[in-house]
Amino acid sequence: MSDNPDPVPSKRENETDSEQPPKRQRVLREKTFLKNPASPPNAVEDAEFSRCFEKVENKIGKNFKPYDMKSAQSAQTSIKYKKGDVIKFQTRAQKHSEMCAIEHLIANKHVTLTLSGSDVTVNGSEVYTVDPANFETEQPHCGYCTFILCLLGFPLGTPSQGKFNQSINLSYPIPKELCEPNIVYGTLFCKDLTLFVSFIKRHFFNNDVDVNIDVTGNNITVNGADFRKLDDFLKDHATGQSATTSRSYFIWKCFFNYLNARLNPEK
Ligand SMILES: [Zn+2]
Repeated sequence: MSDNPDPVPSKRENETDSEQPPKRQRVLREKTFLKNPASPPNAVEDAEFSRCFEKVENKIGKNFKPYDMKSAQSAQTSIKYKKGDVIKFQTRAQKHSEMCAIEHLIANKHVTLTLSGSDVTVNGSEVYTVDPANFETEQPHCGYCTFILCLLGFPLGTPSQGKFNQSINLSYPIPKELCEPNIVYGTLFCKDLTLFVSFIKRHFFNNDVDVNIDVTGNNITVNGADFRKLDDFLKDHATGQSATTSRSYFIWKCFFNYLNARLNPEK
């Protein structure tokens, strides 16, 4: 947002009495995050995620529309195949219809996500062409969907910067494929490997483990062992907590927390 109204706190509550800042701050920081997920991002998170925000705003310009979904309302997204058949997706179990549609397309290999140039790009297949006419949502996308569709390169319907009902809980399920190392790297960290690695170390490692991330091969290496999945890697090696969510999904939750502090209030 160009008129960023949120003050950036230099320290979180209860962090001031630390004698060993790195370790203590990490533990307290996660507790603060989980207890109060809509807290404003600190300067570190700002550095990590603000580029995603800028990237999307630059792409959309001033074309954001109001978001006015009533809590009982549920959006619908339709995908259309080359042969003409249409499948409709409804928001289910808090997974927004857009994410349900993406999940279906990825799981059935109708689209693939790849890291190329400065973006993650979405590629069609012999049965599906990525085109706005083949991916339609009846209502304006919420802010989360707007940002994620944009960062992934999916066609946008009507974008908004609105928080969805219950976004305060950061409950926004995404397809598991979005937790692959190179997708997280490309979408959330705008291909800044230093930021990506420092984020992982700060949140998940107590010691300064030598983490090498080969995003070209989509692998993470530590001490010579390869882990393709980000979550497998973090489960096997990380000591940080991510409470009730998978560890790679926790990274997305940090992004949702960042979005929450910057999107328009819930109606
Ligand atoms: Zn949404």
